[in-house]
Amino acid sequence: MMASEARSGKGHAAIIGAGIVGVSTAIWLQRAGWKVTLFDGKGIGEATSFGNGGVLASCAVVPVTGPGLWAKAPAMLFSSGQPLFMKWGYLPRLAPWLMKYMRHCNAADTRRIAAALAPIISDSLADHEALARGTVAEKYLHPSDYVYVYNDRSEFESEAFSWSIRSEYGFQWDELSGPSLRVYLPQLAKRDSFGIRLKNHGRISDPGAYVKALAEHVISQGGEFVQTDVSDIEISNGEVTGIVTTHGLQKFDKVVLNAGVWSAKLMKRLGIDVPLESERGYHMELWDPSETVPAPLMISAGKFVVTPMDGRIRLAGILEFGGLDAAPSEAPYRLLEKKFRDAFPKISWKQTTRWMGHRPATSDSIPVIGELPGAKGVFAGFGHHHVGLTGGPATGRLLSQIIDGAKPNIDLEPYSPLRFK
Ligand SMILES: Cc1cc2nc3c(=O)[nH]c(=O)nc-3n(C[C@H](O)[C@H](O)[C@H](O)COP(=O)(O)OP(=O)(O)OC[C@H]3O[C@@H](n4cnc5c(N)ncnc54)[C@H](O)[C@@H]3O)c2cc1C
Repeated sequence: MMASEARSGKGHAAIIGAGIVGVSTAIWLQRAGWKVTLFDGKGIGEATSFGNGGVLASCAVVPVTGPGLWAKAPAMLFSSGQPLFMKWGYLPRLAPWLMKYMRHCNAADTRRIAAALAPIISDSLADHEALARGTVAEKYLHPSDYVYVYNDRSEFESEAFSWSIRSEYGFQWDELSGPSLRVYLPQLAKRDSFGIRLKNHGRISDPGAYVKALAEHVISQGGEFVQTDVSDIEISNGEVTGIVTTHGLQKFDKVVLNAGVWSAKLMKRLGIDVPLESERGYHMELWDPSETVPAPLMISAGKFVVTPMDGRIRLAGILEFGGLDAAPSEAPYRLLEKKFRDAFPKISWKQTTRWMGHRPATSDSIPVIGELPGAKGVFAGFGHHHVGLTGGPATGRLLSQIIDGAKPNIDLEPYSPLRFK
């Protein structure tokens, strides 16, 4: 049976990509009465959404491209003790994107980006609760604090600009120092460390399993999953007709492109150039740890998170430029382990597993969300950088509203697929 024969009342939508964004779109579209089919060549939740830090980082409205990056980046790139790495052979290919990216390292753009990210991520815990409610995925979702751990107070004060922006978006925090930090985090080695605790955040205790459980719910409600890559989106007279896979052309009423960092290729086939790069990131998992931590921690000295997960602690972070094809580097793993051991020398564990993945990074740090001009019925939702787990549910809900003809309550202009022209 052709996919389009299995319609429900409103029509049939193909969703390309079964990461957190695609699965969120599927759930919300299905709830709105659409028949949905998810396509993914790798499987459900097997790419970036598998290996992230699991933090619902609502307060992370400030992009990497803050005003100080021009001054800091060269020293960071040439030091193996810093969380920024480059595969130098990739630099010529990266250069055009990098030039655009670095143009945003100023206060005005940082504020503009924060204003665009806030509606997508600042209510993440509630967004995930609404997404997962009534599904088996609920068991992986945990409300929690989110704690930034600094070497000392002056390190925190050096980030005053970022914290002033978080404050403008309504985030409040408690300062943890001296005895209060030692009570909260007795495992920490350094006695003059300084903590910032934000409440009303959350964590996912197994991000890959969470996305799979959400997709299982979609399937249990009549949705479909097809494990194959989509090679093209078919347009006729400016309107979508379907998608092309190894099974040939399949007809659909709407097509949603939620393919993370791989989305640019299909966008290009539709005539739209989006400057999208991989910000490669790494995780290490410490299985059966002798003790765990009470909440996700952002270790400022290494810019990585330490998240308690089912049966393990996950260390996740690092930013490496090197494209989609190069093998993982060794240095990021060494850095993660060293910084963790420096902070928590008393925690031991039985086994380590390692992973590298690709954050989908637009050159202006804002995701692309919306219908594609010139390709009626095709919708994009990708480019969530470091906050795709946090912002996936809101993005999926927005997409389902637009597709279903409802008016979203936010201005979609900042996310326009055509803004890079
Ligand atoms: C180390 C690290 C730590 C992170 N920590 C956090 C965190 O703590 N909190 C947070 O919010 N975010 C975090 N992120 C970012 C977050 O993981 C991503 O932004 C998010 O997973 C992106 O989701 P996605 O659905 O857009 O992409 P993906 O999860 O990559 O899914 C895209 C899917 O599309 C499929 N696909 C691609 N091309 C095709 C095609 N042609 N046809 C069919 N399918 C296709 C792929 O196989 C893939 O499964 C982290 C990222 C990394 C790397």
